[in-house]
Amino acid sequence: ARPDGPLSALPAAELTAFHRAQEAAYAELRAAGLKLDLTRGKPAAAQLDLSDGLLTLPRGTTDSGGTDVRNYGGLEGLRDLRAIFAELLGTPVEQLVAGDNSSLVMMRSVLSYLWLHGGVTSERPWSAEEKVTFVCPVPGYDRHFTLLDWFGIDTVTVPMNDDGPDAEAIAELVAHDPTIKGMWLVPTYANPTGTITSPAVAERLASMPTAAPDFTIFWDNAYALHHLTEEETASADILGLAEAAGNPHRPIVFASTSKITYAGAGVGFLAASTDVVKWYTTHLGKGAIGPDKVNHLRHAQFFGSADGVRAHMVKHRELIAPKFDAVDRILTERLGGLGVAEWKVPVGGYFFSLDVLDGTAARVVQLAREAGIALTPAGASFPKGLDPRDRNIRLAPTFPPPEEVARAMEGVTTCVLLAAAEKLLD
Ligand code: PLP
Repeated sequence: ARPDGPLSALPAAELTAFHRAQEAAYAELRAAGLKLDLTRGKPAAAQLDLSDGLLTLPRGTTDSGGTDVRNYGGLEGLRDLRAIFAELLGTPVEQLVAGDNSSLVMMRSVLSYLWLHGGVTSERPWSAEEKVTFVCPVPGYDRHFTLLDWFGIDTVTVPMNDDGPDAEAIAELVAHDPTIKGMWLVPTYANPTGTITSPAVAERLASMPTAAPDFTIFWDNAYALHHLTEEETASADILGLAEAAGNPHRPIVFASTSKITYAGAGVGFLAASTDVVKWYTTHLGKGAIGPDKVNHLRHAQFFGSADGVRAHMVKHRELIAPKFDAVDRILTERLGGLGVAEWKVPVGGYFFSLDVLDGTAARVVQLAREAGIALTPAGASFPKGLDPRDRNIRLAPTFPPPEEVARAMEGVTTCVLLAAAEKLLD
């Protein structure tokens, strides 16, 4: 029977009986021979189908300004497409670059240029610094951390609060440590917590004094338009806030259509101050003559306008919101009130961030794996894959069909309960 209060409050005999019941449930789960996967933050095939209109576009070979998209040139990308996404991202069109198919590559390029040459406010290339450190709100996006590792950049973590990263903690760090050159932030529907960074937090980050003159906010707005409810929350205007605070070159905004159209053949975007955009395209130009403007034109024609994108995102929501609902429903039914797990229901983005009992996340992932349910490795949302409390698990419900999401979550909750009982008996 399901206890009606926290597991930790059960008398020893009842806890032992609960543990035995979970062992039996887990044995049954293993015997079912499942093969399920909640690791992939990818669109499902049905979502990709929404964009198949792209496959018969573009019509013609010129944009509205007469540019022949088949030829070289135009490092900043096709204006028609930039105009649509400038409206959606709330940036001036002149300050928005449309690139090739990955914003993550653009982030790596920016880091490479900073490393080799420094930025518009740098005293020297970052490679010439004795040490470079980044502030990382946690839990966060594993590929951000992998990139830092690859450059040999140190990390310092700060908590992700309900209104964004802990801005006071960040302000304190950056005020005194000149090795802190940057920070990651997924401002709208953070990966994996779904957190929305409030305008107040954004203002603090834009205006806080920094010991490093070239402190850079990597504002990765990958999920800016990925609302899971009818409320289409706009992201804080980080470029405007930074300019108003006298730090116009501090933020660099990234976004892409990877989870709007095709994850392998979308368009990445970068926005920043006019000077930083010029800096970016100048360095880009040392190795590129222009982006894939055929892809830009077909995207511009496919959407037609910013409203076209908004309507398209509603179709995504209709496909994936039921999967998120199923995750929350099963977590609540099976774990609610037992004091063994915490989660917030995300109102956008691609993930659920589940915190289980301290010291049990790796065990839960192991139990799930042995029962045929693949989960993202415990700790993946922390630099170097190390979650100091071993409690965070990232769940990605978009890719599997709804019935598989539900089946996987039933199994995951069994693993959470078994691991919690083991821990409490320990
Ligand atoms: N940024 C975040 C926060 C992501 O979660 C992802 C993909 O999961 C990306 C960037 C990758 O973006 P892109 O496909 O544009 O390279």
